[in-house]
Amino acid sequence: MTVSFPFSAIVSQDEMKLAILVAAVDPRIGGVLVFGDRGTGKSTAVRALAALLPKMRAVVGCRYACDPADAGVGCADCSTLRGKKPPKSHLVPVPVVDLPLGATEDRVVGALDLERALSQGVKAFEPGLLARANRGFLYIDEVNLLEDHLVDLLIDVAASGENVVEREGLSVRHPARFVLVGSGNPEEGELRPQLLDRFGLSVEVQTPTDLAARVEVVRRRDAFERDPTAFAQQWKKEDERTRKRIVAGRARLDCVRIPDAARERAAQLCTALGTDGLRGDLTLIRAARALCALQGDAEVGDTHLRRVAAPALRHRLRRNPLDDAGSTTRVERAVTELMGA
Ligand SMILES: [Zn+2]
Repeated sequence: MTVSFPFSAIVSQDEMKLAILVAAVDPRIGGVLVFGDRGTGKSTAVRALAALLPKMRAVVGCRYACDPADAGVGCADCSTLRGKKPPKSHLVPVPVVDLPLGATEDRVVGALDLERALSQGVKAFEPGLLARANRGFLYIDEVNLLEDHLVDLLIDVAASGENVVEREGLSVRHPARFVLVGSGNPEEGELRPQLLDRFGLSVEVQTPTDLAARVEVVRRRDAFERDPTAFAQQWKKEDERTRKRIVAGRARLDCVRIPDAARERAAQLCTALGTDGLRGDLTLIRAARALCALQGDAEVGDTHLRRVAAPALRHRLRRNPLDDAGSTTRVERAVTELMGA
């Protein structure tokens, strides 16, 4: 088994870590977009978080790793088992599926199993990457270079939690609930604004400019590569604490209270920033609630809204010809005006 770089050992990049944690507590927030320099550990963070999550119970033999306890959302095969004796299940790691650039639609959504069609004359479905990503993470490096129609498709599936394939005489639907994580380098092409808006959170990562942080990144990376197992052992306790926080956060999520005052704050902030539609308000509230649950707090307040405001809103701002400040600065300014320094 390969050892992942421990999540807790990732130096700085606090906003990226926070966004991924929040999305892991509440996947309904929508995907996370990570923009920034190469080599800033974007994919490392996703892999590290998935490795840290508790293994999930899955139906043995199910190609979508259905949860035996989750009534009503299983695939067609698992649904037919329902009501009978519980299916055999086993524990499997939370999947992180890489979507390579140049992947065909067949490979992504699944396709007719040609081999079986030719040899046995059976119309069988060969699941694609979306099937493998069910209940885990789908990671797209350089999402800004992916064909638009594929990005649209991924975002639709991520939002609905279901992959529907109607082609080549096939008619298949299967669960595909995953957290979409897209990374990109803005210098290599921008994402259409309509797509940006559909990602729940967006974060900006930078190569650390602080000398001590740079030295620490290299030191830890080197220690990990020389002896991954020993290195992971050093961070085990800290990772364990994070795991417990996520599990507790998920359990607590539906009990978190959102007072009207917090909803008003979110609306005021979005109005001040002129975000389009209501997706900003909704994401801001959901992200604040997930953060609240993660921290073990009972009620959403300004402190939560403040911390998630930039990741929830910065990619939803329209260009303002009278204001050339960056989007992060504009969000921070609006937060300060509304909630004080
Ligand atoms: Zn199933």
